[in-house]
Amino acid sequence: IITIENIAEEELEKFEILATQLSLEIKKVFLYETVEKIAITDSLTGLYVRRYFTDRLDEELGRSARQGLKVSFLMLDIDDFKKINDTYGHLVGDVVLKDIGRIIRENIREIDLACRYGGEEFAAMLPETSKESAYSVAERIRKRVEENAFKAYDERLKLTVSLGIASYPDDSSNQHGLIEAADQALYRGKRSGKNVVCRHNK
Ligand code: GH3
Ligand code: MG
Ligand code: MG
Repeated sequence: IITIENIAEEELEKFEILATQLSLEIKKVFLYETVEKIAITDSLTGLYVRRYFTDRLDEELGRSARQGLKVSFLMLDIDDFKKINDTYGHLVGDVVLKDIGRIIRENIREIDLACRYGGEEFAAMLPETSKESAYSVAERIRKRVEENAFKAYDERLKLTVSLGIASYPDDSSNQHGLIEAADQALYRGKRSGKNVVCRHNK
């Protein structure tokens, strides 16, 4: 709403044009915000996309270096997801991905950031968090997934996930090394029989 006082009659038309222009500018801002949100959000899970996540992780590592803080990084991969796809089809696979995204979101803090890292892989960064605290978070996510009954048409199916954890600065001083360290821990978990949380160098 725009109100204007004491305007001369002949000025009114100019004012109307100005008001129309202003409303268009406001619409443009809203549109830009919507487009930006779509660009950084994974449409299936509602989590961030990898590109946005890794940019934010870089920023967070920079901030942590300046302030001498720890950052922990989690990598999650669904166990035997191929079997779920092969048995129930891709639609059920999608329901599972969506549910896992929700479980991750529900078990991290507001200042943490989670993304869909790849097809059935997810990642999260936990600022100002030690490896031990990150382990509790990861264990909670692992348990919630284990307890969850995923909807597959009329059936309820059970599944598990494995997680790898690495922390800045203990395991690596840069993003690439941190992701690689968490990945190594994750694959150690997979080899050890899955449904497990593994910490790098532990
Ligand atoms: P593992 O326990 O070793 O992780 O076994 P896995 O079967 O989960 O194997 P992997 O992690 O290599 O997962 C790859 C499979 O996940 C391939 C494909 O069937 C499925 N997949 C990957 N991305 C998607 C996706 O976006 N949607 C669906 N529905 N399935 C996907
Ligand atoms: Mg995988
Ligand atoms: Mg998998």
